[in-house]
Amino acid sequence: LLASDGSISATIFAEMSALAVRTGAINLGQGFPDEDGPMEVLEAARGAIADGTNQYPPGLGLPMLRQAIATHQERFYGIRLDADREVLVTAGATEALAATILALVDDGDEVVTFEPFYDSYGAMISLARGIHRTVPLHAPDFQPDLDQLRDTVTDRTRLILVNSPHNPTGAVLPRETLELIVELAHRHNAIIVTDEVYEHLTFEVAHLPIAALPGARERTISVSSGGKTFNTTGWKIGWLSGPADYVTAILAVKQFLTFVNGAPFQPAIAIGLGLPDSFFRRAAADLEAKRDVLSLGLAAAGFTVSRPLGGYFLVADATPLGYSDGSELCRRLPELAGVVAVPISAFVHEHRRADYSSLLRFAYCKKVDVLERAAARLAELQ
Ligand code: PMP
Ligand code: GLN
Repeated sequence: LLASDGSISATIFAEMSALAVRTGAINLGQGFPDEDGPMEVLEAARGAIADGTNQYPPGLGLPMLRQAIATHQERFYGIRLDADREVLVTAGATEALAATILALVDDGDEVVTFEPFYDSYGAMISLARGIHRTVPLHAPDFQPDLDQLRDTVTDRTRLILVNSPHNPTGAVLPRETLELIVELAHRHNAIIVTDEVYEHLTFEVAHLPIAALPGARERTISVSSGGKTFNTTGWKIGWLSGPADYVTAILAVKQFLTFVNGAPFQPAIAIGLGLPDSFFRRAAADLEAKRDVLSLGLAAAGFTVSRPLGGYFLVADATPLGYSDGSELCRRLPELAGVVAVPISAFVHEHRRADYSSLLRFAYCKKVDVLERAAARLAELQ
């Protein structure tokens, strides 16, 4: 995690957002929306501050939010949770994943993820001194080869860390793959950790939480966050749910990471989770329209574009434009086209970079006119 001179290298997201600020380029790099979410949620946070919800909340999270998380899981997925024993509120999904990995992975335990993978997975597996095994995902649909998945999960596997919808590719795993993961977890006595922060942002397909599959619940820890669903990425209200014994073990670590966080934001996210179905449908439909605007624009600009089924991001291949080094292209893109993107190679291990080198990740969680302007600028690359 440290460079050879002892300095910390910034995450790719911080680096690319700083580049956007410095150059004035349109930031389609870091994944955060450029519009506020539902007024009810924002008002609830203002109200909670005014009403004095400003001190440390309980270690597990405010009961109102834990109950709302349990109610939401039952309403959307038919999963019944005990809000007092099976739900833990965290400082974003990031802390939920960090505390889970630190609590459950010992020196030398293997953790299986797909590759490309969200950057914090690799960092946390290293901090826990685990061994990171991966199953590669390739264009155009970024689905895993199921035989490779079978070969990678072994008796040495402690965790299978799943992320669907997937960052950075937008892939959504079909039921068949999720069922295989449950089967492999049983066969090898592994625990499933599932990062579902984009659970409400799927297009054309319904989100299927792995914990809802037969045989999954007793060995699955589900992670989510209010950030993506309610356009509140800066609030850092996340959570996890799963068997009470695991939640207790994870809380033991979490209490020494942040202890607690975000008191007035917790009741506000609880209000959000209770919004009517129309809100959730609309959020997905709006984002799908944005995906289409950016996809069409990038295709017209000459990129080969993936078709994400969920999440904030699409993958664009710069090969048809004559660029083979996406990392180099991303560093020059502000000057060439006034746009910032993130190279997919930032989400893979060093020895795999060559396999992904011409691919760029673009965020489409931005206003339509911003996406249109970015696409028009990128058309100048031809
Ligand atoms: N997991 C994935 C797949 C993500 O994309 C993100 C953030 N974009 C996170 C976790 C972190 O979520 P949070 O901001 O709630 O910590
Ligand atoms: N998850 C966001 C992304 O993938 C960024 C979060 C961060 O900056 N750590 O762009």
